[in-house]
Amino acid sequence: MVDFDILIIGGGIAGASLGAEIARKARTCIVEAETHCGYHSTGRSAAFWLESYGGPVVAQLSAASHDFLDAPPADFAERSFLRTRGALHVTRGELPVLPPVVETRVVERAELAAIVPGIRPDWHRALWEPGCADIDVAALHAAYLRWFRTQGGQVRTDARLVRASFDGEWSLEFEDGATLSAGIVVNAAGAWADSVAKSCGVAPIGITPKRRTMVQLRVARSGLRDLPQVIDAGESFYFKGESDRSIWLSPHDEIETDPCDAAPEEIDIATAIDRFERVVDWPIEAVERSWAGLRTFAPDRIPVYGFDPLAPGFFWCAGQGGFGIQTAPAAARLAAALILNEAPHHSVSNIDPTHFLPARFRN
Ligand SMILES: Cc1cc2nc3c(=O)[nH]c(=O)nc-3n(C[C@H](O)[C@H](O)[C@H](O)COP(=O)(O)OP(=O)(O)OC[C@H]3O[C@@H](n4cnc5c(N)ncnc54)[C@H](O)[C@@H]3O)c2cc1C
Repeated sequence: MVDFDILIIGGGIAGASLGAEIARKARTCIVEAETHCGYHSTGRSAAFWLESYGGPVVAQLSAASHDFLDAPPADFAERSFLRTRGALHVTRGELPVLPPVVETRVVERAELAAIVPGIRPDWHRALWEPGCADIDVAALHAAYLRWFRTQGGQVRTDARLVRASFDGEWSLEFEDGATLSAGIVVNAAGAWADSVAKSCGVAPIGITPKRRTMVQLRVARSGLRDLPQVIDAGESFYFKGESDRSIWLSPHDEIETDPCDAAPEEIDIATAIDRFERVVDWPIEAVERSWAGLRTFAPDRIPVYGFDPLAPGFFWCAGQGGFGIQTAPAAARLAAALILNEAPHHSVSNIDPTHFLPARFRN
């Protein structure tokens, strides 16, 4: 008998949420290379839910995740993971075109200047997206791992997969020499998804990590904690209030890189500050901290959920880009239905899973 029915490679939000959805029905283990789960992308996000983000297919997953995040089942968590703040898609030219299902309203200059005091005159309009919310990512990730364990799932940290082979069942080898066997391997390795596939003798599908930088700035202006998410419609920055006098800012960078422990580069921090200074007249007092993480995309920027048609027992759960947190509840339910070959949970039953299947890359 195999050690586990299902072995999930990667203990970020993707592996943890899928594990939590399947552990009651299959003997499941999450293996995580680092000393703790959530060390990479999951621990470095900007932590927001924005329905319009990522295009219409991704928006379906975000919308279907909202109720779970806002009012989780009582045995999962006692309170909401969301805190609504709203978003302003600001522009110096045209308003952005967002998926029609997303609730929005046009904000003209006078109202914009009242919401974002000190915004420079050339930012003349905005689209208000009221549903944008902060996500308590650490609490969500911890709740998924807790739920997973409660249902019998096992988590092994410091367990880096180095190679695996399939001969009716999977035999897996880890860096420390340990071995495990499993019926199904799930590739939830984030930026390492293609390299994990190769380690398993499975062809990569072109999943590419891209670095994104975040900067926490202290500015000479107060009352910023509830500032909306201010997003450039031209996609060159976003920022939101963090505390009374500080903000989180990103230059919206997407720098292709090998999978790694990402760190911010001085040039990207400088770019972020330069762009910020062209938006508001708030004097910058200090860079309080900065960090970077990897957003990992499939070639069509739609995530990949499903069995590989060329590799028996190999399931992809990868390519979550910049929306892996806000889509996790729906994505995990959709992927659980595919992996267990069951009808999907009613919250995702109207989403067509064929959008996400790896078969689209296997012609
Ligand atoms: C700056 C930034 C801002 C973001 N903002 C948002 C946001 O506001 N909202 C949102 O929804 N999303 C956001 N994202 C995206 C989100 O963080 C990711 O989509 C999500 O965290 C991906 O989760 P994951 O589990 O796939 O990857 P990860 O969290 O990276 O987990 C993958 C895990 O696999 C492990 N692993 C890799 N190789 C092996 C191996 N060989 N053996 C064992 N384990 C292995 C890694 O150690 C890692 O822990 C942001 C990302 C970044 C970088």
